[in-house]
Amino acid sequence: MTDVVDAPAAVKPINHWIAGSRVSGESGRTSPVYNPATGEQTGALDLATVEEVDSAVQAARAAFPAWRAMSLAKRAELFFAIRELFHAEREEIAKILTAEHGKVLSDALGEVTRGLEVIEFCCGIPHLLKGGMTEQASTGVDVYSIRQPLGVVAGITPFNFPAMVPMWMWAPALACGNTFVLKPSEKDPSASLYAAELLKQAGVPDGVFNVIQGDKVAVDALLEHPDVVAISFVGSTPIARYVYETATSKGKRCQALGGAKNHMIVLPDADIDMAADAAVSAGYGSAGERCMAVSMIVAVGDVADPLIAAIKERIPKVKVGDGMDASNEMGPLITREHRDKVASYLSDGGGTVVVDGRDGAQDDGFFLNPSLVDDLKPGMRAYDDEIFGPVLGVTRVDTYDEAVRLVNENPYGNGTAIFTRDGGVARRFQFEAQVGMVGVNVPIPVPVAYYSFGGWKNSLFGDRHIYGPEGIDFYTRSKVVTSRWPDPATSKVDLGFPQTR
Ligand code: NAD
Repeated sequence: MTDVVDAPAAVKPINHWIAGSRVSGESGRTSPVYNPATGEQTGALDLATVEEVDSAVQAARAAFPAWRAMSLAKRAELFFAIRELFHAEREEIAKILTAEHGKVLSDALGEVTRGLEVIEFCCGIPHLLKGGMTEQASTGVDVYSIRQPLGVVAGITPFNFPAMVPMWMWAPALACGNTFVLKPSEKDPSASLYAAELLKQAGVPDGVFNVIQGDKVAVDALLEHPDVVAISFVGSTPIARYVYETATSKGKRCQALGGAKNHMIVLPDADIDMAADAAVSAGYGSAGERCMAVSMIVAVGDVADPLIAAIKERIPKVKVGDGMDASNEMGPLITREHRDKVASYLSDGGGTVVVDGRDGAQDDGFFLNPSLVDDLKPGMRAYDDEIFGPVLGVTRVDTYDEAVRLVNENPYGNGTAIFTRDGGVARRFQFEAQVGMVGVNVPIPVPVAYYSFGGWKNSLFGDRHIYGPEGIDFYTRSKVVTSRWPDPATSKVDLGFPQTR
């Protein structure tokens, strides 16, 4: 999966974080980390052994009893401190993201802000963990439910949101009283180490949050480890399915979010300029490397020609370049291999290439300019695959019903959007779409932090969506207590099965 390289002298070593300190890897295996805007290697990432994964899990295990016993008042106070620190450091975090992922700084800052919202939600943890209570369920008997943490939980995250997706996991996991082992993407791992340092600085005890760097060896070690009781995964569909099946076969709780192919339906009554702005923003933002990116436009009736014209007019105005330059709007792709794979859809993906992003693309770094492909249909490679790059596809249909059928027959069900002025049709779409997150005139409907994020079908394996109320649910299990206090006046021997009286 990853190259094994001897690091050039100038590149920085990127280590693990175990029990509150940086720990150098001892496997002798490393993986290169690049600046995608220049193509230069900037880091050499330690790839963990099974033993190193075990030491991270043991650190988390040792920290669990004291962490779960901390009062909710104190944990909430700590979360306010975490929020302040991450907020103060948000620009620094954004720079780390841009340096390794390539997304432009404004986009990186947006990522950190959306992650911060999840931390802010977790500041309300005393309220979120409130249980239910029934007084006098039976005479002198009260019944109440409580939610308790699971223990050591692990998160395995993708390259495309190196700060936000880990925050979706560790913030609710820690707030609920679990301890955490994070296995970030090997392509842009530094933001996770920075988060570890900030959490320590905020006062999170050593061992509560650990980072293990690695590849399949580390993932498998977490999946197999008897002391890891739950796994959150975000990444591509084949790996999500593998992680879900393996984790659940070992008796672990698992939520595994996978890939996507998000359709944006544009009806003939839509505002063409608004739809074109949305398509360009949601199709090319972060170079299309978002699981909620719009990748297919479904143009209904006669909307296709004017819409394509409006998108074509906007494409040359998108400023592509190094994300560190604040004037740029779109950066490079994550690796050379990925850029080449995305570009291959312009050669043999099917359809009619309207704008070819290989034309004029910068040579340095892993760049591909915004591309537009018309006349795509299911069965064509560029329609069926999750391209995960700046290639926007268009398919033409005659009716709303055909458009919805395309959405519902697609194996993915992460996000979708409809652009229309007709509230009745929009409401019908919300009712009919077999997709987890729906936008009405909103192209990237990522739920706010007090709802939960998740797709349907091949975009999520498991029962619970991530962050928000379902995140709290995922990281806790419920217990019901039935209690009677000694009352000599009503006490007697009764061998019958307990009944409500
Ligand atoms: P990926 O599946 O290649 O990697 C994700 C994680 O799995 C990484 O930590 C990686 O080290 C690990 N991994 C990779 N191959 C493995 C293997 N064979 N065995 C065990 N572990 C393995 O995904 P990526 O390329 O980093 O991220 C892009 C993908 O993530 C896209 O498909 C995108 O749609 C998806 N994604 C989904 C969501 C969502 O919320 N549904 C959010 C972000 C990204």
